[in-house]
This record gives sequence, C-alpha cells and structure tokens, in this order.
Amino acid sequence: MATVGILALQGDFEAHAKLLEGLGANPCEVRVPEDLDGLDALIIPGGESTVMTLGIEREGLAGPIRRLIDQGAPVLGTCAGMIMLDRDHLGALDISTRRNAFGRQLRSFEADVELAGVEGGPIHAVFIRAPWVSEHGSEVEVLGRVDQHPVAIRQGNVLAVSFHPELAGDARLHRLLLSSNGCGASPSRSGRPT
Ligand code: GLN
Repeated sequence: MATVGILALQGDFEAHAKLLEGLGANPCEVRVPEDLDGLDALIIPGGESTVMTLGIEREGLAGPIRRLIDQGAPVLGTCAGMIMLDRDHLGALDISTRRNAFGRQLRSFEADVELAGVEGGPIHAVFIRAPWVSEHGSEVEVLGRVDQHPVAIRQGNVLAVSFHPELAGDARLHRLLLSSNGCGASPSRSGRPT
C-alpha cells in the first residue's frame, strides 16, 4: 500500500485524503519535516499560497520537500499547490504562475478539460481563484489548457493542475500519481497516524 503525504499546513487536504483512501492508498498528513520520511508520493493541495509559504518557512519544510522531489517521488500539486512548486517558491517546476489569473468575474468556475495522457474523457475541473501557467521551460509538458492557458502540466515526476480534481470527486489524477514510477517502492509505514 502506497503511503502518500498531503501537505496539511492549510487548505483542502481532507478531500485528497478521502480520494486516496478510496483508491486503497494510505494518506498521511505532513506538517513537519519528519512527516516526509518514507513517503511514496506527495500532494500539495489548494489553499492560499501566501499562507502556505509562511508555513513552509516556519517549519523548515522547503529543503526536505525539494529533496523528496529530487529523489524522484511522484508529486501532485493542485491550485495553490501548483504555485508552491513554481520557480518563485519551491523551484521544483520550470514554470511561472499567475495567481488569481482568471479575473474577478470568473473567480470560481467549472469546466470540462481534456488532459493528454488521462483516459476516459475530459476531467470535470473546479477552478477556485485559480492560477494559470504564464511561462514555462522546454522540459515542461502541457497536458491541458483553458482559454489557451496551460492549466495542467508535467515535468518529470511532478504533475501540477490549476484546478481541484478532488472536489469533483474525480480520482483519475490521484490514480495516475499512484501508478507513477517509484510509487509504492518504499516499505510501508504501518502504525503511523494518518
Ligand atoms: N488564489 C489562491 C492563491 O493564490 C489559490 C486558490 C486555490 O488554491 N484554490 O494562493
């Protein structure tokens, strides 16, 4: 059973945990660096990127998260999680993001987005004061767009989306994370509180 950490400083980590349980994985809340030990994968959820940045700084989590990513652990960032992974924050993705990019009138909306590599039709995506990718390097693969703007991208082991797949209850991106190379490779951490 794969143990998947969910950064739980702030934001909607519980919805991710429920989806992961439904897929037979073991979700584990991450608040301090020791919580990252032995994880098979990591989710950085949506929330407020400014608050999350302060929490990461306060707990000294940036270096340990970067190390986990550099070791090849599969990572999924959603909404503010995508922002946290960009050049200006954790620097795990060669992307720049624009916060609250869809403007005031469209602060929240839903859309069906076709994603390259995700079978079974478009994903029903919930966008809440969502960012988009404003610029990216050549290593970055764009998987989906809304109004021409990249809203789903992948670079190596890191997948990031501007929206909230967990709120629509679509588990396909979580399944993709669990089926990634390296997920489930480390010994399980039975007995850990979730
Ligand atoms: N607008 C938020 C930010 O800039 C992101 C919103 C979200 O994660 N739903 O951090």
